[in-house]
Amino acid sequence: MTKEISRATCLEMDQADPLAARRDEFVLPENIIYLDGNSLGAMTHAVAANVERTMREEWAQGLIRSWNEANWITKAMKVGDTLAGLIGADDGEVVVCDSTSVNVYKQLAAALDMRPDRKVIVSEAGNFPTDLYMAQGLIAHLDRGHELRLVQPGDSVYDAIDEDVAVVMLTHVDFKSGLIHDMDAVTRAAHDAGALMLWDLCHTAGAMSVNLNAAGADLAIGCTYKYLNGGPGAPAFIFVAARLQDQIRQPLTGWMGHNAPFAFDIRFEPASGIERMLSGSHGILGLSAVETALEVWQDVDMNDIRTKSIALCELFIDLVETRCTGHGFELISPRDASVRGSQISFIHAHGFEIMQALIGAGVIGDYREPNVLRFGFTPLYVRFVDVWDAVDKLTTIMDGNVWQDPKYAIRGAVT
Ligand SMILES: *Cc1c(COP(=O)(O)O)cnc(C)c1O
Repeated sequence: MTKEISRATCLEMDQADPLAARRDEFVLPENIIYLDGNSLGAMTHAVAANVERTMREEWAQGLIRSWNEANWITKAMKVGDTLAGLIGADDGEVVVCDSTSVNVYKQLAAALDMRPDRKVIVSEAGNFPTDLYMAQGLIAHLDRGHELRLVQPGDSVYDAIDEDVAVVMLTHVDFKSGLIHDMDAVTRAAHDAGALMLWDLCHTAGAMSVNLNAAGADLAIGCTYKYLNGGPGAPAFIFVAARLQDQIRQPLTGWMGHNAPFAFDIRFEPASGIERMLSGSHGILGLSAVETALEVWQDVDMNDIRTKSIALCELFIDLVETRCTGHGFELISPRDASVRGSQISFIHAHGFEIMQALIGAGVIGDYREPNVLRFGFTPLYVRFVDVWDAVDKLTTIMDGNVWQDPKYAIRGAVT
């Protein structure tokens, strides 16, 4: 067993951290250790100020004029261009709109339309359920004999990809375990079989660098409220590779995706670029929050993000395994950091109660059915000493059986 790392060592690691100063840009509650930025990222001071300014100046004073004067009408594309830099996309390939779920629907429908002779959507049984639900809904709606082929845990994705497949839809970083798919290799396998590749980047964007265009990805979607800190229910993003933009047709053909929305023509004519992926009016308050939240990345080196993310995760695993031995935690995230995202998950028979007790002690992580304790490590604002303190509280909860208090067994609507 390695020597236990001291709290003082963690404080030294924070002092040497090139990202340490970023934490000051965030509003974080006192006495809370926040290890859930993978579900809802924290808010920056700038976001609060800019959303208020958007409301008071652009909305209250500018009123309808702000669609032009404050450039509301182009904001979804402008924010998309900023975001493109974080996911290896080019200007004009990303737009920010709607929810991830809705964007999954648009992308899958568009993909099936581009592969009319093929009937299969490949995904994983372990994918985030909303992605699978949207696929099921689309298949039922089309009623043309499409099939959702799900790779079961432990089985190979590659074995599921054949000439019947229209589109492969995978979440790059698994939401439960944090396992990373090899984006280059899976995209190549999809293309070799003549299928399109749709990546869900919900747990990737802002957690590590990724390069959609280097991988040759066709389509991608992802949310902005996790590691990108865009705020609760913030509009999601949608990526279509430039080479497909002339041919792609999505089903939710609202006026914002029209070539000339203000011509009020009765016939739908898609816009020429990524704008055709839009449907209705942009949620300007949400967009302005995302726009401002992305400013924090301006001169962040993604190598620093990944290096710190791995160091935080390794520290957490080491400390849990040395200090909570014999308490029944089992690591379900990959031990190999090179194939692991920015989160660590343990299973425990009493995972729910333990997480509630942790939250009661000021350590916020989250719980996923059936028994997963999930901890997200966001390098912009989580410190090494936070990791140490979190495990210290977990140790107290386990050693003292604190989690057995009946109040920790009560379930709310959101777990
Ligand atoms: C968080 C997440 C979503 C969320 O979808 P919403 O439409 O924003 O609720 C979808 N897919 C994956 C993989 C996620 O991790």
